[in-house]
Amino acid sequence: MDQFLPEEIHHLRESVIRFMETTVVPEMGNHEEQGVFPRDLILKAGEAGLYGPVFPESLGGSQMGFLAMAVVAEELARLDIGFSLCHNPQGMTCPYTIYAGGTEAQIKRYIPNLLSGKHIGCWALTEPGGGSDALGNMRTTAKRRGGSYYLNGSKMFITLGDQTDTGILFAKTDTNAGAKGVSAFIVEPKKYPGWEARPVEFVGLSQSLRSCEVFLDDFEVPEENLLGEEGMGFRYAMHAIQAGRVSVAARSVGLARACLDEAIQYVKEREVRGKPLANYQFTQGMIADALVNIESARLMTYHTAQLMDKDLPANRLSAQAKYAASLALKQAAGFASELFGGYALAKDYRIARLSSYAHVFLVGEGAPSVQRVLIAEDALGIKKADRHVTRYTNPQGLAMEL
Ligand SMILES: Cc1cc2nc3c(=O)[nH]c(=O)nc-3n(C[C@H](O)[C@H](O)[C@H](O)COP(=O)(O)OP(=O)(O)OC[C@H]3O[C@@H](n4cnc5c(N)ncnc54)[C@H](O)[C@@H]3O)c2cc1C
Repeated sequence: MDQFLPEEIHHLRESVIRFMETTVVPEMGNHEEQGVFPRDLILKAGEAGLYGPVFPESLGGSQMGFLAMAVVAEELARLDIGFSLCHNPQGMTCPYTIYAGGTEAQIKRYIPNLLSGKHIGCWALTEPGGGSDALGNMRTTAKRRGGSYYLNGSKMFITLGDQTDTGILFAKTDTNAGAKGVSAFIVEPKKYPGWEARPVEFVGLSQSLRSCEVFLDDFEVPEENLLGEEGMGFRYAMHAIQAGRVSVAARSVGLARACLDEAIQYVKEREVRGKPLANYQFTQGMIADALVNIESARLMTYHTAQLMDKDLPANRLSAQAKYAASLALKQAAGFASELFGGYALAKDYRIARLSSYAHVFLVGEGAPSVQRVLIAEDALGIKKADRHVTRYTNPQGLAMEL
């Protein structure tokens, strides 16, 4: 698959695999067993440059671009899906929102610490009322008093919300102005009171990297931590989600590849009626279907990432890539689970955990129905997906004028 990719991307993939196999995979088992957050491993991943591809060297990135980011995300997910959850907070949505809307001072102050893994990030949009209609369901408010904003409300499923040093959170500064009433804030929960994060008890997900319900009780944000201007927050959120979709699509592809690899290994060993499961044509059909759909989704993801590297419109394509990748993942996880029979539910088998995460990547950054609406409205000429002028790269480190 890498033959048509630039050589530097191929080398990057190899170095990520080496890093994961020697540094992360051998350690994550212990962290999971004890429920310990892998701050040390995130720091090492930051030092190894895993969070930096879409950011310039002046901020601690490598400026290799979205294709490089997609390849890193894919391999992280393939090799340790739980650990890969920190990819967005450290290297995509959280720093990328600051990159898109921050002042030069904010960009320089916060992004390098996230990319290096010294600070833990989070990106908080979803609320308990529902994530698909994040705007309609947003109840969290921010009111200005003196030199600070005070935030009240709650957020749901916020990954690493219990560990955050520097995060992005969206709240309404004007409850009557629709999308123009939403503002984005750089939040620092360890510095200011009023932030309480409770990990959600998920079935089958990591005990080490948790997603949380976050309660905000007059949580303080100094006014210099407003991102851009009041009312620009929803624009920033949509821009970051669009870029983040490529990361989710890439991680879906990586996870789907992991499911398929597990299935292939298992069916070669497991015997039914005296011969390996692999010898049956129904099994072969499942392997072939999964493989073809994964490869298609992978090509769509890479293609979208390449367009973004050229600052070409990619909103429709990122929705298509995310949709295709999440369906390929759902299919691969479903087939693999079917082939594992009852063992697909046993904790000792990796496929049980991979299948639980398949659901996360199906709904995260926009459920399939949400992607279908965007894709179909574009096709029918109802609403063009690429109607806004969009930039993805920002080498000068200035606000992107979205
Ligand atoms: C492990 C995990 C980590 C997460 N991390 C974060 C995070 O760090 N930050 C963050 O902000 N969010 C995060 N999320 C939230 C995630 O983005 C939301 O779960 C997702 O947006 C869906 O929102 P919801 O779960 O409230 O489902 P709902 O919005 O209630 O949607 C449920 C279902 O309704 C259907 N539906 C929705 N809209 C439509 C429509 N227009 N037409 C037809 N059908 C529709 C779909 O089938 C959809 O799956 C995380 C979620 C999980 C599970």
